Amino acid sequence: MFNSIVMVKQVPDTANISGKVMKDDGTVNRTKLPAIFNHEDRVALELALQVKEKYGGKVIAITMGPPRASDILRECLYMGTDETYLISDRKFAGADTLATSYVLSEVIKKIGGYDFIFAGRQAIDGDTAQVGPQTAEKLGIPQITYTEEILDVNKNKIKIKRKIDGGYEIVESTLPVLITVLKNVVSPRPFSSKRVMAFKNAKSVLDLEKLAEENSLLYTDKLIHEYKERNLLINTFTMDDLNLDIKRCGIAGSPTKVHKVESVILKGGNQIRVEPTKAGLNNLIEQLMTDHIFG
Ligand SMILES: Cc1cc2nc3c(=O)[nH]c(=O)nc-3n(C[C@H](O)[C@H](O)[C@H](O)COP(=O)(O)OP(=O)(O)OC[C@H]3O[C@@H](n4cnc5c(N)ncnc54)[C@H](O)[C@@H]3O)c2cc1C
Repeated sequence: MFNSIVMVKQVPDTANISGKVMKDDGTVNRTKLPAIFNHEDRVALELALQVKEKYGGKVIAITMGPPRASDILRECLYMGTDETYLISDRKFAGADTLATSYVLSEVIKKIGGYDFIFAGRQAIDGDTAQVGPQTAEKLGIPQITYTEEILDVNKNKIKIKRKIDGGYEIVESTLPVLITVLKNVVSPRPFSSKRVMAFKNAKSVLDLEKLAEENSLLYTDKLIHEYKERNLLINTFTMDDLNLDIKRCGIAGSPTKVHKVESVILKGGNQIRVEPTKAGLNNLIEQLMTDHIFG
């Protein structure tokens, strides 16, 4: 049996951007954007579910994000995840990869009992591909990036095919290990209709607090108890639930500052016809040297 933790991220739908989506401090104004499940993370979840089906164990999904990130955790439950964790607090907002991987690694230590951590290679908003490797570093465990296929898992080892420039290589690692996956390696399964019916009302503690705020007949503690009993509670960690160094979280723990984001539109330049003769090629080379493109 092998237990997996999958790191999933809710990202802005970059295919449907309109209006001012960057705040003046260079962070993303997420409330202005439709939010979706980062595709590579769904692929990572699919791989984790396949490991569970083949070898047994459980799959846990975790995400750090605003309260509405619980949407993707419900989607994880629809696909087959056993447990989910939302990590959410205003004090985590504006985190760069350093602060994100710090909080995620501390939460993973708290959950414990894992053989594999799965992550997407890259999130489509920040695009850095750093969070997976940084999390492995902070946990002090090996990492295999650019995974294309899991070839074998046994008690102490995993064998993986990973992409490299112009081909692939087969690598082995001891467990526990963090694995980042590429986007097209497997097709994520569709939601199970049975699981959608079972988990569509799953809620985080933050959702339940909001419900209690809106209705004076409801009490958060009672709701948490009830949702836990019905297996509908999305486990929730805020700053107060974790023993973290506040200086390493959110904006305070993020040395990266994005000063400006620009849309770059590449336009075609002038076209020159090169005669397929020795003289034509000589002219081209001369022109490239004059323009300092090479020389
Ligand atoms: C235009 C722009 C540029 C930026 N540039 C930088 C930069 O250069 N350096 C920098 O440090 N930050 C940068 N950021 C901030 C970046 O958005 C955050 O660091 C972000 O929270 C995590 O990095 P990422 O999106 O690049 O994740 P990646 O490293 O691309 O994500 C890889 C994988 O890690 C996991 N993961 C990532 N975030 C989470 C999460 N919150 N919860 C659970 N799993 C997660 C997922 O499995 C994901 O597929 C930038 C943001 C923007 C909008």
